[in-house]
Amino acid sequence: MTIAYLGLGANLGDARQTLKDAVVCLAQQHTISVLAKSSVYRTAPIDSSGDDYFNCVVKLETSLPARSLLRLCHHIELQFGRERPYRNAPRTLDLDILLYGASSIDEADLVVPHPRMTERAFVLVPLVELEPDLILPQRGRADAFIDEVADQRIEKVAACQCMVAAQPSAADATATPSTKTDCR
Ligand code: ADP
Ligand code: MG
Repeated sequence: MTIAYLGLGANLGDARQTLKDAVVCLAQQHTISVLAKSSVYRTAPIDSSGDDYFNCVVKLETSLPARSLLRLCHHIELQFGRERPYRNAPRTLDLDILLYGASSIDEADLVVPHPRMTERAFVLVPLVELEPDLILPQRGRADAFIDEVADQRIEKVAACQCMVAAQPSAADATATPSTKTDCR
């Protein structure tokens, strides 16, 4: 099992609702336990265009290797109507792997830690909310980067009200996967 952090973002359609639904979708995967979810933030598009984004960060535990987790993220993005008409286009849902355990991965289609995470308030602020003392592989404390992104507009729109369930017991593991968070 590996602890991973995903960055979620959306600025097309009912973006705020999409984030909630996407967290439920993640929690329903039998290969994933959602351990925590940050508040939802409204943010200015960075390297993108269109309406403001809604963003949050999810901490999860997974049995999936990193590449399979990326495939699952792409699959869920597609389920939520993600299209890629051009680079950095507005999107119904973006799921990025920010951290995968202490792994450093540098492959053509998967780079972890996410290469731009320390340049983006919409990643750093919710991540540090979840893990105030988080240490990034080879980069030090996550909160040390927040001053550098202070010019990026970000506003908390919803404190997380979700109750995150205790870890499932071995008996639960054979049961029908259930939603472990209720963020609606
Ligand atoms: P964005 O970079 O804005 O998130 P996309 O979601 O379209 O854009 O992702 C572009 C590509 O980035 C994906 O095809 C994926 O293979 C690659 N990628 C590399 N590293 C990561 C990562 N850590 N998390 C998610 N996607 C990644
Ligand atoms: Mg992405």
